[in-house]
Amino acid sequence: MKAINTANISAAQQPQTSWQYLLSHCFTDPVSLAKFLQLEPEQLNFSAQASGEFSLKVPLPYAMRMQKGDSRDPLLLQVLPDPRELEHFPGFVTDPLAEADANHLSGLIHKYKNRVLLMLSGACAINCRYCFRRHFPYDDNKIGSQQWQKILRYIENDSSIEEVIFSGGDPLATSDQRLDKLITQLGQIKHLQRLRIHSRLPVVIPQRITDQLCQTLQKTHLQTLLVIHANHANEFDLQVTEALDKLKAANVTVLNQAVLLKGINDTVASQKKLHTASFAAGALPYYLFVLDPVQGAAHFDISDSQAQQLVAELQRELPGYLLPRLAREIPGKPHKTLLAI
Ligand code: SF4
Repeated sequence: MKAINTANISAAQQPQTSWQYLLSHCFTDPVSLAKFLQLEPEQLNFSAQASGEFSLKVPLPYAMRMQKGDSRDPLLLQVLPDPRELEHFPGFVTDPLAEADANHLSGLIHKYKNRVLLMLSGACAINCRYCFRRHFPYDDNKIGSQQWQKILRYIENDSSIEEVIFSGGDPLATSDQRLDKLITQLGQIKHLQRLRIHSRLPVVIPQRITDQLCQTLQKTHLQTLLVIHANHANEFDLQVTEALDKLKAANVTVLNQAVLLKGINDTVASQKKLHTASFAAGALPYYLFVLDPVQGAAHFDISDSQAQQLVAELQRELPGYLLPRLAREIPGKPHKTLLAI
């Protein structure tokens, strides 16, 4: 990872910069990020020790949507290593969803009926402080070519599997060529019906939605969904909208899932703006998750009853199609648990 040199990329050039360049040139040190945001480094509530455990990583297109001069910007607070991450809270653990129990094959998680999740890439374009996989052993779950053959056989041999979910890390951090090969091979499995991709890249580096990727997604006979991940209305801009337009033109259904985060989006007004902006950009609100109790993220937590009250108020503000389902994932349950209908 190279540190970003913003002098090399102006705001006007950024939309034309390749996604690979942006992915490999992120903000990784607080001084450059503070300078870019027109803040003094000491104005950032930054913990070097927390960053040592889960590093600061912010791509330029995302940083450009942060409000200059605002050390409490809601996009900044999602990615800034915070001293409170070092405190330990009972119940906040490294594997909050007990995914190790469903990790049947390296790179594959099979916890729900009819669906398998593949850890296509351990890399992310951005390090979100609340991430439930911030401690995930990605190195033990790499999918090389031999492992991919084992995964294909696993799916071929279980005709109950209807849907493959590409996850990570961020599955779109992998190349278009590799994705084309994997999707083509999956498309040859008769009982598969759907491909779902969970990715934060269309939001944080919208350039990732290339023509080649769209061609791959359009030509597969699998029904294809892409679930983006945005937690705040300010994460959407024209570039994100254009990226989602390209996906929809390739017959991809685009949904948004968000996490309810204290101090970021835990008011009715911010939730209303988020789901309205998501729909305007082309992504239908899907899930609003309460925080998974992952070690290092307790300062983002709000109680289930507060979340339920917030969504009850939100329901009065939004038409039904803009209201995401409030849910929690409970380890061992065969489905997500809805906290509000
Ligand atoms: S997996 Fe998703 S939520 Fe977690 S750090 Fe990566 S982009 Fe963020």
